[in-house]
Amino acid sequence: MTATMPPLATPDRTNRLAATRHGNRMVAQYWDDLFTARERGQQIVWYNGGALNPIFQAAGLAWCHGEAFAARLAAQQLEGPAQLAGAEYGYNAELCSYSRTHLGCAVLTVQGDEGAQTGVVGAHDQAELAARLPAPDFFVNNYAGCSTGQQWDEISYRVFDKEVPIFNISHPFLWGNKADAGYLQGEEWESASRYVRDQLVDLIAWLEERSGNKFDWDLLRESMTYIKRAAELRREGLELCKAKPAPATFWDWISAIAPINFLPGNQELVDYFASVRDEIQHRIDHGITGIENERYRLYFDGIMNWNKLGFLSRKFAEHGVAVMAGRYITNAFWQEPQLIDTDDPLLGMAQHYLLCPTNHGTRTLDYLTLRDCEEYDVDGIVFHSTRTCRAFTGPQRLLARSAQNNLGIPSIFFEGDVADASFYKEEILESRLAAMLEAIDVKRAQAS
Ligand code: SF4
Repeated sequence: MTATMPPLATPDRTNRLAATRHGNRMVAQYWDDLFTARERGQQIVWYNGGALNPIFQAAGLAWCHGEAFAARLAAQQLEGPAQLAGAEYGYNAELCSYSRTHLGCAVLTVQGDEGAQTGVVGAHDQAELAARLPAPDFFVNNYAGCSTGQQWDEISYRVFDKEVPIFNISHPFLWGNKADAGYLQGEEWESASRYVRDQLVDLIAWLEERSGNKFDWDLLRESMTYIKRAAELRREGLELCKAKPAPATFWDWISAIAPINFLPGNQELVDYFASVRDEIQHRIDHGITGIENERYRLYFDGIMNWNKLGFLSRKFAEHGVAVMAGRYITNAFWQEPQLIDTDDPLLGMAQHYLLCPTNHGTRTLDYLTLRDCEEYDVDGIVFHSTRTCRAFTGPQRLLARSAQNNLGIPSIFFEGDVADASFYKEEILESRLAAMLEAIDVKRAQAS
């Protein structure tokens, strides 16, 4: 009689940074605080897009970032009930799954208010959602570079019967096609920066009037001082990751998005990014690598597939691939801290909102992608063709062609999504990745 052997588990060849575990605890604490904010008498703002949290912090409000909440549910495989509620309400599966998940939460929140009067996500869904999202007192939209993002809060406003005040910040798209235009330069950049800055002044007055809270300018300067320092440490860590072999990878930086994106600016945030940077330096000093046996270095273009974060990090490591950098990491999240004047931070904040990686014309995106591919010395590019995020996928074919023509770097595309696992196609990624790595091997053999 022959016994059936269980399949051998694939060894995990990743070596993730230990410091990010502390970041995860900080993020979990933040959500717990948000879920109980109403009990502490705080007013709550739901917002989308760029990191307005320092303004909300100084306005005495608790804040919920819509994309972050959707990403959190997807990363915990808990997005199902919210997406189902959204589908029942009429949101099509082709709608951005971040917005679909968050709008589903809005629907559940309204149902919860009608039912148990809990003011939280519908009581019957709480266990599955593992969340108690308080209903909003305000909506603020700060989305650049994506029409879905720009309408998302307006749709939430309708779900709440148009009774919750809403403020929309308008962001000019940075076409970058004038003669004087370039990354962080030119009249288009200067005038757009001032235009968004002026709206932040209006937002602050609006929040003061509606909330009854006096805006604390000193607290804004203080929190932006911490955020600027945290962002500088983050950049230093990213810079260290150019080493060969890589001491940490793109996936470690994905795990560190939430702290830089929406946690309060304070000393703990700075300490966290100092610990990330220091751990990377320690790895370089002691020959510790981000994955076992690095053989290839790839760039990752696309927004994150939050359902698959751990899976993808293991998959690439299994093939000896260190994923080095990507548009979503290197060119997002307070990525140009030198722009922030901590005595007068609004202009630098406005500029970061404009620097959303979906808010550039192809000329600038091409410049950034080629620059990063060269600096991280990558062998190829993986494009995550994010099914419901057209803002990110729109220019990808042009970027792939440019990388091939200008740097001789090959690319592959795979389909997935930000927060809907049903769009991910495992066979496509596996076969295309294997084919690209083989082609890289052939090229190396020919060159040697
Ligand atoms: S489509 Fe993409 S850029 Fe637009 S709101 Fe959704 S995730 Fe954000």
